[in-house]
Amino acid sequence: MEFMFGIPSFVHFGEGASKKLGEMAAGMGAKKAFVMYDKGVKAAGIVDGLIATLKAAGVEAVEFDGVLPNPPDTMVEEAAALARAANVDIVVAVGGGSSIDSAKAINILLTNPSPINQYDGINTVKVPGKPLIAIPTTSGTGSEVTAFSIVTDTVRKKKMVIGGQFVGATIALADPLLTVGMPPKITASTGMDALTHAIEAYVSKGAMIPTDVLALKAIDLICNNIVKATKSGSDIEARSNMLLGSMMAGFAFTNAVLGLVHSIAHPLSAHFNLPHGVANAIGLPYVMEFNVPAATAKFKDIAVAMAIDVTGMTDTDAAQAAVALVRNLNRELEIPTLKECGISREMFDRLAEDALKEVSTFFNPRDPSKEDVLAILEKAY
Ligand SMILES: [Zn+2]
Repeated sequence: MEFMFGIPSFVHFGEGASKKLGEMAAGMGAKKAFVMYDKGVKAAGIVDGLIATLKAAGVEAVEFDGVLPNPPDTMVEEAAALARAANVDIVVAVGGGSSIDSAKAINILLTNPSPINQYDGINTVKVPGKPLIAIPTTSGTGSEVTAFSIVTDTVRKKKMVIGGQFVGATIALADPLLTVGMPPKITASTGMDALTHAIEAYVSKGAMIPTDVLALKAIDLICNNIVKATKSGSDIEARSNMLLGSMMAGFAFTNAVLGLVHSIAHPLSAHFNLPHGVANAIGLPYVMEFNVPAATAKFKDIAVAMAIDVTGMTDTDAAQAAVALVRNLNRELEIPTLKECGISREMFDRLAEDALKEVSTFFNPRDPSKEDVLAILEKAY
């Protein structure tokens, strides 16, 4: 047996953990923080309390509220120029994957030259960044604990995967109380992203025993809490389990990598600006169905983790039951189809070609042809 396993971030998980921000930043010797978030997080009233903890600890805050979904390279360069000019010594990200991925990219550019596009790939960043504290407000990407930053190349219309050394956050402050105000739609789509991470990591060609254990527990936590968290947002136990599940899925996939669901989702978002979680949720049941013959026993394990009673079922039947459960979850959570998202069929050819070039395709348990991807897109339409 041989494997490599690591998690870039120290984690503090718990109700109220985000209140430690100022203390943690000051503890690392910070005097001036670059704090990144989007307007939605600000409107939810999350930012001001966090800035107050920085001030109370003697750390000045330079705020950037212009984070965009599917963060474009142009926005990253603009924010990096501001952070460099302000001479900050720590970066803080508050929000979902877009805020945290943007902060990781900007942190790279604080100690490495622009443009960000030259770092597309794995282990391409040569100089460590400043300390980075990530505070998730969604239970989705797990970006607070992964060694990846996903930035959109606006010229190539491609989601770059910048990963490996010197990319991840130094500290993750995972506070379920910050996710309580998340609207139902965002809870559902980001939660389905987390479920996709756990399932893809579990059946990945890069899976190993440590990631398997984490992925299965994540599937259990997410499947048994996603509907509750979506329909009764103030259920703290459900919120807490979702944040823990998304983070454990992050532990798993930062090591085991992902699969064909993400390979299809990335070009969908790059071309149509579709939210990442929605793009994954749409493709998940159909890619699972495609993958069942190549990883039947593993899909049976997934069914068991989902709390499906598999007594008397063949492995294939159990695997199909897991696929059906995901299809039903999509229906219950009102995840749209590709058609409902306004995706035009004329783009399927380009989407399929782009999907085959994605890094995660090489980790998918079954090697897809272009026709296979086109068939999946057709089913998801
Ligand atoms: Zn994802």
